[in-house]
Amino acid sequence: MAGVYISWPFCAQKCTYCNFASGVFPRELEGAYTERLARELAECDWKMVPGTIYLGGGTPSQMDAGVVARLLDLVPGRPWAEATMEAAPGSFDSEAIASWVAAGINRVSLGAQSFVDLELRRTGRKHTAETVFRDVAALRAGGISDFNIDLIAGLAGQTVESFAESVEAALALDPPHVSVYMLEVDEDSRLGLEILNNGGRYGARDIPGDEAIAAMYERAVERLEAAGVLQYEISNFARAGRQSRHNLKYWKLEPYLGFGADAHSYFGGRRWQNVELASEYVAAAKLRVTSTVANSLEERFFVGLRLREGVEVGEADWVVHGAAIDRFLGMGLLERVGERVRLTTRGILLSNEIFQEFLL
Ligand code: SF4
Repeated sequence: MAGVYISWPFCAQKCTYCNFASGVFPRELEGAYTERLARELAECDWKMVPGTIYLGGGTPSQMDAGVVARLLDLVPGRPWAEATMEAAPGSFDSEAIASWVAAGINRVSLGAQSFVDLELRRTGRKHTAETVFRDVAALRAGGISDFNIDLIAGLAGQTVESFAESVEAALALDPPHVSVYMLEVDEDSRLGLEILNNGGRYGARDIPGDEAIAAMYERAVERLEAAGVLQYEISNFARAGRQSRHNLKYWKLEPYLGFGADAHSYFGGRRWQNVELASEYVAAAKLRVTSTVANSLEERFFVGLRLREGVEVGEADWVVHGAAIDRFLGMGLLERVGERVRLTTRGILLSNEIFQEFLL
C-alpha cells in the first residue's frame, strides 16, 4: 500500500546541525501554508488508498490540533496501518495526544537526539532528558505505545562514553524503535558550514572526530541489538514487527506521495519534488520543481543497500553493476547472503561513497 508524507517546516528554533528547509517563520506564513497544503491535498487525484502517513518537518507536533484533523481528513484510508507524527520533545501535552489519536495518529517519532543536557543545549534544542521521559509517559498514557527515539552521534562535546549513556537512557524507555544518525556535515546547516569553514560559534571545534563517531555508532548497534532492538536499516532499529512501515517504502521502492514544501514523491514510475521553501510553496503556481522517470536498476541498489537484508542480485544487476559488486566484495565492504548482497559494518561507515558507485 502506498504512503503519504506531509511536510510541516515550522519549528520553535533552528537547531545548529539541521540541514532541512525548516525553521522559525512568521506566524502569518503558517496560516497561508496551511491553506495551500489543504488545497494540495484536496486537489489530489487519489489513484490509491494510502496505508501509511508520515507527518514530518519541521515540527508538525506544534501544529494546532484543528489543523492536524483538517489535513488528515483530506487523506483517504483511515484507519491507516501506520500514521506517524514527528514530534519535538516538550512541544505537546496530553490534550494534543488525545487530538492526534482522534485524528488517526498511532505512532510518534521523538527527536530526543541526546540524553545529555549540555549536548542538547549546544544544539539549540529547548528540551532536556527529563522532558523526553515525561513525553513518553504521556504518550503511553494517551494510548500511543508505538514510538521512535531519534539519536545523533557526533554532537559538539559528545564522547563515545556520553553517547553510550544516551543509548542506555533511550533503552530505559523500552522503545519499540530507535534511530541513530551520524552527524551530517554540509553547508546547509549552520554547524556544518562552520565545520567546513573552521569557525567556532556553534561548537565546530568540539565535534568528535570520524573515528570517535564510528565507535559511537558501532557500540550503539551492538548495544541495541543485544537489547533486542534490531538493526533493519543503516540508521534504524526496531523490536520484531515494529519497523517503520512508512519509511520502509522509501527503501523498498514502494510508492508514496509527498505534500507540502520540499516533499518528494515516487509514484507510477516517476519521481518528483515540490518547491523547497515554505515561502515559495504558498505562492507557487506550479508546485513541482523536478520530475524524472525512476530508474529501478539504479535505485534498487542506491536505496536498497541501506537495508540490513540487502538487495537481491538478479542477472540484469550483474550485467550493470557486476564490476562494482565484485570490487566491494573483494574490499570487504559488501558481503553475500544467499542471492543477496549487503553492506558489512565497515561498508556502512563508507556507505555514501559506495552508493555513488551504483549511480548510472
Ligand atoms: S532539527 Fe528538527 S526541530 Fe531542529 S530545526 Fe531541524 S526540523 Fe526543526
